Amino acid sequence: MKIKQYRTEFIQKLSLLNGYGEAESFFYLILQEKHQLKRIDLALNPDLTFSDKEMQLWDSILENLQQEIPIQYLLGKTSFYGLNFQVNAAVLIPRPETEELVEWIISDCVVPQNGKNLRILDIGTGSGCIAITLAKNIRNTQVFAIDISEKALATAQKNAIINDVNVTFIQKNILETEELDLQFDVIVSNPPYVRELEKKEIKKNVLDNEPHLALFVEDEDALIFYRKIAALAQKNLSQEGQLFFEINQYLGNETVDLLKKMNFKDIELRKDIYGNDRMIKAVFSKKSF
Ligand code: GLN
Repeated sequence: MKIKQYRTEFIQKLSLLNGYGEAESFFYLILQEKHQLKRIDLALNPDLTFSDKEMQLWDSILENLQQEIPIQYLLGKTSFYGLNFQVNAAVLIPRPETEELVEWIISDCVVPQNGKNLRILDIGTGSGCIAITLAKNIRNTQVFAIDISEKALATAQKNAIINDVNVTFIQKNILETEELDLQFDVIVSNPPYVRELEKKEIKKNVLDNEPHLALFVEDEDALIFYRKIAALAQKNLSQEGQLFFEINQYLGNETVDLLKKMNFKDIELRKDIYGNDRMIKAVFSKKSF
C-alpha cells in the first residue's frame, strides 16, 4: 500500500481520539522511528509503499494507540530536556513539568568554588531522567540515584550509557532508609504524590499503563515521601545544601509547611507551565536547629 494512502487512514482512525494534530504527529514519529523517513521524504516520493509485513507492524501500533497505550512505550523511547531516553512500563514517561524542575536546578545549584564536585542525589529516579540530565548539564558533578525498582534501575542504567554520563545507581527502599552513607550538596526527588482520591482526574492512558508504584500514595499520608526525604536531608545534606521536590499541585502549602516545621529555610514554591503549584526548593542550614 502507498504510504500516503495509509497515512490518510491512520490519521482518520486516530483523529477521533487524539485530534488531527496529534494523530498526524504520531504518524510522522513512527515513520521516523521505524523507517527513518521524514515528512519531506514522503512529499518528495509520493509513491513510496509499505510491504505487507510493514503494514502489519503499523496496524499493530495503530491498534495499541487506539487502546490508548502511550506512544512513548510503543516506540520504547522519548526525549527529555533534549536528550534521548528509553522508556518501558517499569518507568514513568518523563513529563514537561519535570523538565522545568531540572531547569531550576541547573540554574540555581551552587557549584563549589574549591574545585570539588557538586554531589547530587536523585531519589526515585525511574528512567533516570533527572539524574542523567543534571549529570549532562552541570559541570563537575558526582551524581547518585536511588530507586526501589530493579527494572527501573536497569532502564536508568541504559539511559546513562546512551547519554554518556556517569551516574551511580543504588537499589533502596527510601521509606526503610534511616541514613545515607554520603553527604550531598543537592538532593532532588519526584516521588509518588498522586492521591487515590485524585485517581478520577488521571487520564486512562496514564492509569492503565504507567507504573502505579511511581504515581500513587495513600490519601491519609500523601506526604509520606516528602517527610522521609526531608528527614534524610537533615542528616545527609551539606551545610547550605539544596533540596528540590516535584510536588502534588494541590498540596503546595502543606508541603511548604512540612519543610518549615523541619527547619528548612529559603523555601520557594513555583508553578509549572500549566499554572499549577509544582515544585519546591528549600535550603538546609544546621544553624537553624
Ligand atoms: N506528574 C505525574 C502525573 O501527573 C505524577 C508524577 C508523580 O507522582 N511523581 O501523572
